[in-house]
Amino acid sequence: MSRPFRPLPEVARGGEVAVIGLGRSGAAASRLLRAMQAEVYASDRGVGERMEETAATLRAAGVHVQLGSHDLARVAKCALVVVSPGVPPDAPPLAAARAAGVPIVSEVEIGLRGLGAAQYIAVTGTNGKTTVTAMLAHVLRTLGLDAEEAGNIGTPLCEIALRDVGPAWLALELSSFQLHDTPSLAPDVAVLTNLAPDHLDRYPSLEAYYADKDRLFRNARAESVRVVNGDDAEVLRRTAAVPGVARVFSLRRADADAGFDATRRELFLAGQRLMHRDELPLLGLHNVANALAAALAVWAAAAAARTSAGRAAIADGLRTFRAPAHRLEQLGERAGVLWVNDSKATNVGAARVAIEAMERPTVLLLGGRHKGEPYANLLPALRGRVTAVVAYGEAESLIADELGAHVPVERGGSSFSEVIARARALARPGDAILLAPACSSYDMFTNFEARGEAFRAEAQRP
Ligand code: ADP
Repeated sequence: MSRPFRPLPEVARGGEVAVIGLGRSGAAASRLLRAMQAEVYASDRGVGERMEETAATLRAAGVHVQLGSHDLARVAKCALVVVSPGVPPDAPPLAAARAAGVPIVSEVEIGLRGLGAAQYIAVTGTNGKTTVTAMLAHVLRTLGLDAEEAGNIGTPLCEIALRDVGPAWLALELSSFQLHDTPSLAPDVAVLTNLAPDHLDRYPSLEAYYADKDRLFRNARAESVRVVNGDDAEVLRRTAAVPGVARVFSLRRADADAGFDATRRELFLAGQRLMHRDELPLLGLHNVANALAAALAVWAAAAAARTSAGRAAIADGLRTFRAPAHRLEQLGERAGVLWVNDSKATNVGAARVAIEAMERPTVLLLGGRHKGEPYANLLPALRGRVTAVVAYGEAESLIADELGAHVPVERGGSSFSEVIARARALARPGDAILLAPACSSYDMFTNFEARGEAFRAEAQRP
């Protein structure tokens, strides 16, 4: 698809556009705005060699760049503020813009403007966004369609919009913050995976968080299509009055458009068998729900999917999909022990889902920086599955105190190789070693990805 026009948001014609945050998304937004003939002021709190490189490239494109701080007075005078995904809503430049009445939009909004008439499926929800988005793009490609994942995963939308020719289909992952600031969002299919309490540190109330999720449907019309979780009462209640057609996926409902027959262990789609559960190479019932959401969204979006060849291609896509890195990622077996990396499980809820997904006796690595939730909430999931816990990092003592009376807990200290050595000693052939820490990684690692990579390196050691 070629892109003949690049309309600038009307408001941005009235003065300078400020881009807040110069990671990959912010840098791409700055370049795209320049291509749209905007005057751009881009700033980032950060400094360093990589920032300087980005700044040099942007300056060459005519962007006014500031590193190390933001000029709040200048931001307050701008016509429009564009916010990068990593910038929290209460960051000073956003507060300054809000106080001055300057409209704020996301990097995604600029990308959508730049893309013009792209076809896209947008995915949000509290959990499973990345998995469903990546699955969707993979299944679309298996169908022979030119598709790519964008947004929080894959390539920033503005970077795709800068290309002369872009993919025919986009799978777009959106956080609640991005939804808040993307007024022109109008996907071909909108997917809402589930709703649960989250981000209460950043939202004044649960209702405010859910209200941002509602914005997935802000431009829905009678012909719009949505894919929603039929097992989630909050999702159903909030979407009941949204205009358009609702397609429902469910692990329990026989009348669902995409469902699961737990007795036969088969996934079905539009009234027909799709595949056996065991053909899906992902752990956990939650991943069956994710697969149903992805299959149904593709079926609803692309006419090519609604044939028998299309159905076979969807099944093939799900069969060949592999878990994204650090999300219940199976790293393979060593000496009969399966290593599973769920470093992304940075809270108790996600760790519980991971533990429930385990089909073998499991040695669980639990620890890092405590985030406030009680570990005792893991007890129902641990019973019958977890043979031992290795507690480590700043949360080590808390974990040992809360779980020690119910399950064997060993202390791993604050050396990750020591933690791994303990786990190796505890695991027997036929067992699994699961990293689902229920804590943030910041006491020992720069982020959850670094923690997962350290685990992977250990898993792959002979
Ligand atoms: P997100 O992008 O929404 O954070 P991910 O796909 O990255 O979601 O998955 C993150 C973690 O959330 C997974 O490791 C798993 O523990 C949990 N999870 C994934 N899908 C679901 C789901 N459908 N329901 C509940 N929990 C899920």
